[in-house]
Amino acid sequence: MEITRQKFLISAATSLMIPQLDIADARSRVISRLPASKARRFAWTIDDGASSSAVAYYLNIAEKGEHHLTLFVTSAYSSWKVHSKQIRRLLAEGKIQLGNHTVSHKDLSTLSAKDIKTQLYGCHKFLLDEYGYDARPYFRPPYGNSNPMVRSVAADMGYTVPTMWYGSFGDSSSVSADRIIQFANKWLVDERIVIDHCNRLKSQETMDQILHIAKSRGLRSVTLTEAFGKDFK
Ligand SMILES: [Zn+2]
Repeated sequence: MEITRQKFLISAATSLMIPQLDIADARSRVISRLPASKARRFAWTIDDGASSSAVAYYLNIAEKGEHHLTLFVTSAYSSWKVHSKQIRRLLAEGKIQLGNHTVSHKDLSTLSAKDIKTQLYGCHKFLLDEYGYDARPYFRPPYGNSNPMVRSVAADMGYTVPTMWYGSFGDSSSVSADRIIQFANKWLVDERIVIDHCNRLKSQETMDQILHIAKSRGLRSVTLTEAFGKDFK
């Protein structure tokens, strides 16, 4: 049984679409999918923020209220200040959630404990100062890369939930619109945490198709806190 599972993990890890971690810090709870629920739901998580217009686009999807989004903020990007007022309001309305995605998107697994802390704390402080928002316990290590020291330093700060994913729109680098739709068709499934990025604006047609796929499957995006509950850590 365990061997079968191990084989599955190894084969799954060969796909960047489903990252796998080694043994977690005892205080950490690595998540890559949502708990079971009667509602058909997924978590649409959107990372980074290199493009202010892409951030604006996702915020406007959240405004409509059909899909609640979780944004993993890389705080060095100015987009997060440009849209500060709208973000604060959407947080208050419960339409979005924010997670810690470090200050400058360094691969934490290559850093010293001190530098890991600087990356996580800098983003944490930004979210507090800019929006009065505490993102704990959710953080996403850039590239999904982590190790026991990263998880230990993060857990010391209250970031006990390294948030991975089970499916990607594959658009962290340049991919064609057709490919994004293929990924959406493949990964938009009940209980999934799907990773997306706000680093370049997708075409209106691509976004419409993604929304159409979710709708045709009766899927609604919820925030991580909506799925896991307020006391999860
Ligand atoms: Zn990222």
